Amino acid sequence: MAQTIEKICVDKGLRMTGQRRTIAKVISESNDHPDVEKLHERAITIDPEISIATVYRTVRLFQDAGIISSSDFGGTRARYEIIPEEHHDHLINLKTGQVIEFRDEEIEELQKIIADKLGYKLVDHRLELYGVPKDQDK
Ligand SMILES: [Zn+2]
Repeated sequence: MAQTIEKICVDKGLRMTGQRRTIAKVISESNDHPDVEKLHERAITIDPEISIATVYRTVRLFQDAGIISSSDFGGTRARYEIIPEEHHDHLINLKTGQVIEFRDEEIEELQKIIADKLGYKLVDHRLELYGVPKDQDK
């Protein structure tokens, strides 16, 4: 991640308190699309004073500022990641909840073509594939 959340926040004029900075650091360093509970677990290893409510509020703030995005990936909890510079899609392992990132130029192109056929210019999309590992599907 070239740009950390903290830098993006400062650029966007958000006031960065110590706790926000810690939570920003935890999100920046996580690549497993963690939920609020996981973020809280990681944040309190740095600053035990951080409450789960603060994590919730901070995540909402970052999300409203367009810095992070959330998806429940078919589960019940929102999971977060920094909005990447280059778009990617996700494949979710239904056995483990692991999220695998991918980018496929054919899919990217095809989506533009579909939108175009329907009379639209594509501005964004979200694609989530759900699967089980092939050697464990029985
Ligand atoms: Zn991702």
